[in-house]
Amino acid sequence: MNLTDKTYQELKTSLINILGHNGVVADSKGVEVLSRTNVPHRNIPSFVVYPQDASDVQGVLCMARKHGVPVWPVSTGKNWGYGSKSAAYPGGITMVLERMNRIIEINEELGTAIIEPGVTYAQLNTYLKENGIKLWVDSSGSTKDASIIGNALDKGRGVTPYADHFGSLCGMEVVLPDGRKIRTGGGPQDGYPSWNTYKWGTGLFVDGLFAQSNLGIVVQAGLWLMPEPEAYDFFVFEYTAGEDQFADFLKDFRSLIFKGVIKSRPHLANDFAMLCILDQYPNDLLNGKQYLDPEAMQIWKKRMKVPEWTFGCGLYGTKEEVRLHKSITKKTLSRYGSTHMTGICAEKNFMGRMANRIARLVLRLQGKSPQFLDSLIPAIELFKGIPTDHFVKQVYFKSFDQKPASEFEPARDGCGFVWIGPVVPFSPEHISKLMNLVKPLYKKHEFEFFLEIIIESPRSVISLFGLFYDKKSPDESRRAMALYKDIRDVAYKHGYPPYRASVESTQTALDCNPLLKSLITDLKTALDPNNILAPGRYGARARKRE
Ligand SMILES: Cc1cc2nc3c(=O)[nH]c(=O)nc-3n(C[C@H](O)[C@H](O)[C@H](O)COP(=O)(O)OP(=O)(O)OC[C@H]3O[C@@H](n4cnc5c(N)ncnc54)[C@H](O)[C@@H]3O)c2cc1C
Repeated sequence: MNLTDKTYQELKTSLINILGHNGVVADSKGVEVLSRTNVPHRNIPSFVVYPQDASDVQGVLCMARKHGVPVWPVSTGKNWGYGSKSAAYPGGITMVLERMNRIIEINEELGTAIIEPGVTYAQLNTYLKENGIKLWVDSSGSTKDASIIGNALDKGRGVTPYADHFGSLCGMEVVLPDGRKIRTGGGPQDGYPSWNTYKWGTGLFVDGLFAQSNLGIVVQAGLWLMPEPEAYDFFVFEYTAGEDQFADFLKDFRSLIFKGVIKSRPHLANDFAMLCILDQYPNDLLNGKQYLDPEAMQIWKKRMKVPEWTFGCGLYGTKEEVRLHKSITKKTLSRYGSTHMTGICAEKNFMGRMANRIARLVLRLQGKSPQFLDSLIPAIELFKGIPTDHFVKQVYFKSFDQKPASEFEPARDGCGFVWIGPVVPFSPEHISKLMNLVKPLYKKHEFEFFLEIIIESPRSVISLFGLFYDKKSPDESRRAMALYKDIRDVAYKHGYPPYRASVESTQTALDCNPLLKSLITDLKTALDPNNILAPGRYGARARKRE
């Protein structure tokens, strides 16, 4: 959107009046860096603003309405692989809520918290540990510095029994496009004790209106936390059986989840997905090609001792439960591969240190790479709700000669990757069908096939396809985008819509369901007639006035 010089200057002055000089970025270099993405597509805003509280948010919205300039809110904006902080249109105001980072309340007895959108996984985890509060915060596999609320509002996921992040929110405070601040939950606007313990309230349940939407800016939310269990263990499973047994494996895996033997929500990673975590891209195996052909992949897999499929998984409960679940899991899965029980290795006591040494020795003797061993402790801890940056390193594996040791900021650093995660019923037929439709598309566009089957529940999985490309190469960026579009088209065509949209696809996210899109457009028009708040996000844009 093009602002006249006059509007630009007036708006800039008003924003600085509300937020102060250090709350507004308007210089061209600043807004360029802040809007960088990992996906090939991005838009540069006119301003990036940092409110400190809900009244700042209201003030910015008021100015945006006055000048007819759109506002794109994010929490910490680490939506890497989906568009980071970039809006779906050029210009406008990007609102980053990371300075609103108060932990307002923790109730250990009821396992609830009230937090602001800038609160990160690392911040809440540290707070809980430092205060001896025996509650766990489920973290995603992304950075520990991501926002709990931001991730939840984009329907992000973790790995513990509390993996459904939007499902773990309870009671929200939301600023609407017209500036009103409301509380969801169906009780009195202020002071009602079950705001964060009972989701459904009285009457219409409205919280869903604010997930993957542009109907409000969430400035506070209740969050359910997991009580620390009496016992915890962790195992790594490696699938070594033939392709013909994969369907049976999936059914047995599902039955363990249905029965509650496996309560966590693991990611079943294919060979390439594991290799990204463990290694650098082996340019020496390319043989003049643009991607690793099957022979090259075999050599690489053998080098790194990586099987067809791998997953890590937590076990939770009383000591007796965990012991029983361990033995049922081992018995069930032993037909298909090996199970390494390693949970004790992360314990910070003598037994833990001894177990760690022994496990490293045993795994080393089995030919496991040092990188596999280095990933073990972060994985064990992640399933205990301890966030880590360890797995972010993987996105540097193709774009950089060496993964950095710290200071990960893949958007700023120009790592090229895109995620797309169609949702599929948890049945071998559906999982294999989509996999077989998508795999040839990677070959067509000359990329390696990346798939993580994310367990959403015993009923659904997210088939997360990853596309890694060299962002500096216009040809690779073009091919990555073409592959993304092909995967998206094929997934929609067969009825498997993605669980999340990227900045490139968000405006058309609901085109598959015109009647639903029309209803949401009606809501958008009623709540935001001037189309101020994130127009186009997840397909919704107010109707033009006659
Ligand atoms: C290696 C790697 C692993 C990853 N693993 C995971 C994973 O396991 N699970 C997962 O879910 N993701 C994963 N991601 C993707 C992503 O990095 C995370 O989802 C991250 O948490 C999103 O960034 P954020 O928390 O800063 O949210 P934000 O970027 O702040 O928010 C996400 C979106 O939610 C909306 N939004 C945010 N805040 C508000 C608000 N207050 N009001 C209204 N709308 C709002 C906006 O549309 C925004 O774009 C991974 C990425 C990488 C690179």
